[in-house]
Amino acid sequence: MKPFTIAIHGGAGTISPDSMTAEKEQLYLRGLEQALSAGHAVLKENGSAMDAVMAAVVQLEDNPLFNAGRGSVFTHEGLHEMDAAIMDGNSGNAGAVAGVKSVRNPIVLARLVMEKTEHVMLHGNGAEELAKLHHLPFESPEYFYDAYRYEQWQSIRDTETTQLDHSKNKKFGTVGAVALDVHGNVAAATSTGGMTNKRFSRIGDSPIIGAGTYAANHTCAVSCTGHGEYFIRSVVAYDVSCLMEYKGLSIEEACRTVVMEKLVKTGGEGGLIAVDKTGIPQLVFNSEGMYRGYQINHEMPFTAIYR
Ligand code: ASP
Repeated sequence: MKPFTIAIHGGAGTISPDSMTAEKEQLYLRGLEQALSAGHAVLKENGSAMDAVMAAVVQLEDNPLFNAGRGSVFTHEGLHEMDAAIMDGNSGNAGAVAGVKSVRNPIVLARLVMEKTEHVMLHGNGAEELAKLHHLPFESPEYFYDAYRYEQWQSIRDTETTQLDHSKNKKFGTVGAVALDVHGNVAAATSTGGMTNKRFSRIGDSPIIGAGTYAANHTCAVSCTGHGEYFIRSVVAYDVSCLMEYKGLSIEEACRTVVMEKLVKTGGEGGLIAVDKTGIPQLVFNSEGMYRGYQINHEMPFTAIYR
């Protein structure tokens, strides 16, 4: 049997059992399971890694618990600006969008950029024009509204601070998926609302190919979550791939070197998920927790939150 794997994340940060109720914990775990199951359903029918990561990320975008699509954090102006990227490890093609305000599923639009244009990245109004042209669903601000995210924003809206999702101190929110399909192809997808109270059209690492998202069949597929500025400067996702390609590191060694050594040295908090053609997923983070899960072949799904 040819191996297949789906792995997902729903953000990393200071996620500890005392910041959580048992009820909330169950909701998060169920959200992760639903996303895994959407990706797994594609893979077990011999579907592509691209379709699997997109299906998983759409589920996470539609779930208001996670900071992507519905439930995205508020900007300084009280709006939502979402970023997303997808990359096909087989063809090396990629698509990304940044600062989109009302497209229901930014990851679907990122894929459209890849497949229907000759470009890699579109932003703002232009990206939404493409979405309209292809009849993607749009939503009103009420759809994206989430009371918890609103409260987060209210507590810092009059300040100059930006805040990563999920906690008062440091916690990150973004969703992502990586997959290996039975054809031996890998893919990565990442989607986020970015940081609470962000201004000046700030864009994080998630939609930047090589920083928050990367996939190449001969190495691996990677999706990151964490303090985007650090991940951009360290070109994190591509660095994992480079360590495998040029230094011959295993995927496990490469992920650990980047997340637990290089990022820690620069102060970059967060984590990533990755998979290569062996199908053994890596879920590595240097923060207190990361919403995460994976499912390999026909085995039972695994989900976890804390370290
Ligand atoms: N990396 C995302 C950003 O900086 C945030 C996150 O992962 O929580 O926009």
